[in-house]
Parts: sequence; structure tokens; C-alpha cells
Amino acid sequence: MATERTLSIIKPDATKRNLTGKINAKFEDAGLRIVAQKRIQLTQDQAGKFYAVHAERPFFGELTEFMASGPVVVQVLEGEGAIAKNREVMGATNPADAAPGTIRAEFAESVGENSVHGSDAPDTAKEEIAFFFSGLELVG
Ligand code: UDP
Ligand code: MG
Repeated sequence: MATERTLSIIKPDATKRNLTGKINAKFEDAGLRIVAQKRIQLTQDQAGKFYAVHAERPFFGELTEFMASGPVVVQVLEGEGAIAKNREVMGATNPADAAPGTIRAEFAESVGENSVHGSDAPDTAKEEIAFFFSGLELVG
């Protein structure tokens, strides 16, 4: 399998509870390398642009409000099959369905406030990385 990069976000529910280090340890223990990382505060408008694919969903307003409610840590994870591996480490969207040991099983508070975002495919990973990082910020 090829080396890939994927976009990860540690969401406001997790930064608020001081879980950045514990979540990063899960990535590193799974063989994912954090090759770029920054802590930022999104506006609701920026969160809406990032989650534009969900604009018609009933939870869109709540989701963008939540993503703008506190700091997030945006990061690029690199590794063999990083996109799928990260989704595995994250666990299912709804923490009630997330496998034991996954980030969402251990830390998520609800289906909305579920601690992490991860890209779901190579094309979205590329777009989402470019949404937050310039080439100069990706040093490997
Ligand atoms: N979400 C929500 N309610 C739902 C489904 C999703 O609030 O019924 C939120 C949740 O924060 C989720 C995000 O919208 O992580 C994006 O949804 P997606 O289906 O892409 O899930 P993910 O890829 O994050 O597992
Ligand atoms: Mg998704």
C-alpha cells in the first residue's frame, strides 16, 4: 500500500477537555505520523465552507456552530494507507457504534460532538489538506 496523507481535525469538544495529546498518541501508536499541525479558531462561515458537502443535511447548522464554538487542531497525518487507517483509529461517526479502543469510543460525547474529523477518500484528503495548509507548511 502507498504512503498517503490525510486531513484530521481534533474538534472543539476534545480541545476543551484537554485531549489533544491523548488523541495524538492514538494516531502515533497506529503508525500515523503528524507531519503538520496547528491550533486555530474557525468562524461559522469557514466551518460551513469546510463542511459544504453537508450543507443540505438537517444537522448542518448545529455542526458548523459546534465547529466554531472553540479551538480546533488541524493536522496532516501521513503513513501507509493513512486515509483508511485514520478512519479505523477514529471509529464510527456515532460513538455508540464505535469499536472499543477507537478515539470516538473512548472520547466522543455524541454523534455531533465526536472529537475528530478524518478525510474519507484520496480526493477529499487532497482538497481538505489544501483548505488548511500551504505547501510550505508540509515538511514531512
Ligand atoms: N453529524 C451530526 N449528526 C449526524 C451525522 C453527522 O451531527 O447525524 C456530524 C458529526 O460531527 C460528523 C460530521 O457531521 O462527524 C460529518 O458527518 P459524516 O457523515 O461525514 O461523518 P464522519 O465522516 O465525521 O464520520
Ligand atoms: Mg465525513
